[in-house]
Amino acid sequence: MTRNQGITENILKLVGETPLVKLHTITKDLKGSYYAKLEAFNPGHSAKDRIALHIIEDAERKGIIKKGFTIVETTSGNTGFSLAMISIVKGYKCILAVSDKSSVDKIDMLKSLGAEVHVCPANVAPDDPRSYYEVAKRIHKETKKSVYINQYFNELNSDAHYRTTGPEIWKQTEGKITHLIVASGTGGTISGTGKYLKEQNPAIKVLGVDAVGSVLKKYHETGKLDPKEIKPYKIEGLGKNLIPTATDFDVIDVYEKVTDKAAALASREIVKTEGIFPGYTSGAVLQAARQYNDLGMFDDDSFVVLIFPDHGSRYMNKIYSNTWMKKQGFL
Ligand code: PMP
Repeated sequence: MTRNQGITENILKLVGETPLVKLHTITKDLKGSYYAKLEAFNPGHSAKDRIALHIIEDAERKGIIKKGFTIVETTSGNTGFSLAMISIVKGYKCILAVSDKSSVDKIDMLKSLGAEVHVCPANVAPDDPRSYYEVAKRIHKETKKSVYINQYFNELNSDAHYRTTGPEIWKQTEGKITHLIVASGTGGTISGTGKYLKEQNPAIKVLGVDAVGSVLKKYHETGKLDPKEIKPYKIEGLGKNLIPTATDFDVIDVYEKVTDKAAALASREIVKTEGIFPGYTSGAVLQAARQYNDLGMFDDDSFVVLIFPDHGSRYMNKIYSNTWMKKQGFL
């Protein structure tokens, strides 16, 4: 697809083909060179446009959904935005079960896009009837002519990144990429992008980012879900209290965990140094790059790609609010 040449058919034609921007000041003390894939340049301002469009268009091709049907999903906010946007253009109804950890801005945005939003407690077990998984499942069951996107357990999630994000990075770096660093939530981005890149060059290292309070890193190391790892944390979209089958753990070489505080401060530093206004998990990815650097992962020839999943405007009442930052003890 070539952007900005003549008329674009509709907003959905602008999904993907996001820019890869060189980082300068923020990474000057790290070994190697660093490039950020800015997923905020998608029309729904996050990487989730890719999976939402891929999953819906696959269902359309298979005749599973038709105009007037309802789309149901669990989301920390970004997938919801993408689904609501696509629903408007394609004529679907959109019902979203959202975690109460999602920023107020995100929830208001979803409502503005015409979605029906059910806010569910974040800190309950996944099989608790109040959890956003169970609420979405129930709504799907109760709503005739509905489809459940089920991003955590849908293989089309990583397939979207295998078909788009991976090839874009390979082309943009002219095959020079040596390391990929990605925030892991459903794991779709890291698994699909990582798989494609490793197929091009098996020497590429795929480095995961997990949250302190999530089970992913320990599961990757031991093959077991350790409930002792589960603790409340603030970053939305990063880490998990269950094991999503959308994650292909074999593609991931290693995980680093980051704290809420370090990720928040890193996000704010990115704005001040690079003029890029990133979401909370972008700060988490940069913080992980620093930790990987300290572990000796990189040398002067390392060509490191960081995926920045979304835009800072979604976090005005969180990491970009000094009041919120002080309340957390982060400033
Ligand atoms: N960052 C943000 C802001 C997200 O919303 C998500 C999705 N949960 C991720 C990172 C992680 O992406 P993935 O689900 O593909 O692992």
